[in-house]
Amino acid sequence: MLRIGFGTDTHQLEAGREFWLGGILIPHEKGCLGHSDADALIHAVIDALLGAAGLRDIGFRFPDTAEEFKGIDSKILLARTMELIREKGYAISNIDATIALERPKIGSYIPAMAQTLADVMGIESDRLSIKAKTGEKLGFIGREEGISAFAVVLLQKS
Ligand code: MG
Repeated sequence: MLRIGFGTDTHQLEAGREFWLGGILIPHEKGCLGHSDADALIHAVIDALLGAAGLRDIGFRFPDTAEEFKGIDSKILLARTMELIREKGYAISNIDATIALERPKIGSYIPAMAQTLADVMGIESDRLSIKAKTGEKLGFIGREEGISAFAVVLLQKS
């Protein structure tokens, strides 16, 4: 049996914060604001995984009001999500994700992000595609006020 899931996430960018994206720290003068490390790509992937498995969403599983999750490395949340997915007998067929941000250029970081997240999820890195787009200077993405990430995942019952 195959199950598809979709996830999206948005975070504000703020000067002077660490910029965590795709499980790695990216050098930049701004970083994302959030209760956890605010890794928008991981959060979109988690929501896609939970959605595909019928396990609700990231806010339900890992509430942003819980002290337990304050400042947490999102890779820990992704690993916990994988436990939930596997408990239900699902395995990842593939994930396709897009990050929308104006700056910095992140193309050179994508292989490291894919390898990092594949290792956390326990899958081959070629099952995870990460793409990047700018906002063409339009809207909150284009004004560098925030970033968004989108992910589609296909699960198969193992
Ligand atoms: Mg988030």
